[in-house]
Amino acid sequence: MSKTFQKLKAIRGMNDILPAESFKWQQLEAQITQLLSLYGYSNIRTPILESTRLFARGIGEVTDIVEKEMYTFSMSPDKQNIDDMLTMRPEFTAGIVRAAIEHNITYDRPQRLYTMGPVFRHERPQKGRYRQFHQLSVEALGFSGADTDAELIIMLKRLWQQLGLEDIRLELNSLGQPEERLAHRAALIAYFEQHKEQLDEDAQRRLYSNPLRILDTKNPNMQTLANQAPKLFDFLGQASKAHFAEVCRRLEQAGISYTLNPRLVRGLDYYNLTVFEWVTDRLGAQGTVCGGGRYDGLCELLGGKATPAAGFGLGLERLLALLEQKESEQLNSECDVYFVHQGQAASELAAQLAEQCRDQGVRAIVHAGTSSFKSQFKRADQSGAQWAAILGESEVNEGSISLKPLRADKNGNISSQLSVPQAQLVTTLTEHLA
Ligand code: ATP
Ligand code: MG
Repeated sequence: MSKTFQKLKAIRGMNDILPAESFKWQQLEAQITQLLSLYGYSNIRTPILESTRLFARGIGEVTDIVEKEMYTFSMSPDKQNIDDMLTMRPEFTAGIVRAAIEHNITYDRPQRLYTMGPVFRHERPQKGRYRQFHQLSVEALGFSGADTDAELIIMLKRLWQQLGLEDIRLELNSLGQPEERLAHRAALIAYFEQHKEQLDEDAQRRLYSNPLRILDTKNPNMQTLANQAPKLFDFLGQASKAHFAEVCRRLEQAGISYTLNPRLVRGLDYYNLTVFEWVTDRLGAQGTVCGGGRYDGLCELLGGKATPAAGFGLGLERLLALLEQKESEQLNSECDVYFVHQGQAASELAAQLAEQCRDQGVRAIVHAGTSSFKSQFKRADQSGAQWAAILGESEVNEGSISLKPLRADKNGNISSQLSVPQAQLVTTLTEHLA
């Protein structure tokens, strides 16, 4: 044994999860499993390797994933026939639908299914973007109604709340039905053909293969062009519009706010009607935590009988990154409540009330000196405090104090602004901070 073994490293873009971290994974997986059981979802597990045809068909031939991100190989290198090719799943939906057809599990009733595990995409590794990453995939097979679309979204909102996550917003769109998309596609191609000189290389390539995806461009020079393009929404028929309106109505009933994003098209081409993404600004460019929608045509496309369905995929690495950020913010906060005040009387009162807070273990900072409310609030925000306690002239005269929430509480809820008698300040704060 003269030669020493050359040390190896994990494959680029594929991460080890060591014990200190895997503890957090287990915690998160347990919370997710518990939430899904509240909505009647059952676990399904499918193989990592599937026949390439499943994705080359299921996902469509022209999406980024199929075009350039799949780990595909053949066990008999002399045969490069697509029927001999295997692919490491780049997502779960196609595999789950394949399994549902193979075992005919929706023959007597619809199925609510979920799974968690690694998926593989050969894209450029960076923060929040890996080559092996993990998804929670939730699939409601055999459900055609807007009630299901809305319930999936409401369930996700509950997850953010349980995890104490704020700053995740919902974007919504409808892709209509294939015929409606076809009419829009023709209009889109005609529009882009008229402005061919403004298309970048990616857009040129997609012009005839997947023009819808051009709308999703990140190129700043193409934003105006994309914004002014014909809107798919204007091509939707009555039934598609009604479906979408019901999703929106149900979300409003559940108190969930959303933004309509006509340019939201998703990276997988089997979607129809509702599509949605949950997005955050806290993760830089990799801000999409979860994406999903309705895929009524997929089952038939994969050789099964027509089965309406909806679902979503959620990136667990990105969710964990958000949780970590929140944790470090909480640890780094300088105080629980930051007093802002105006005038001599208010300043003295703030000092006294802050002492009462500290008596009860509530960490308090009183803004030192005098400055405008605006700059005091800026400091309050920087302190990491949960609340700003405001003493202006009217509060001093009324014997009250205003409490403005600066961030969400542990459960992800942001309270409304309160006004309480000064004598009740400490108990109000301790109740809300508990
Ligand atoms: P993106 O626009 O970020 O590439 P996508 O549209 O390709 O996302 P989906 O196919 O919808 O993503 O997958 C669902 C979720 O999986 C995403 O919302 C994201 O949270 C996560 N995800 C996707 N690709 C990666 C990756 N390479 N590394 C880590 N997480 C990922
Ligand atoms: Mg992608």
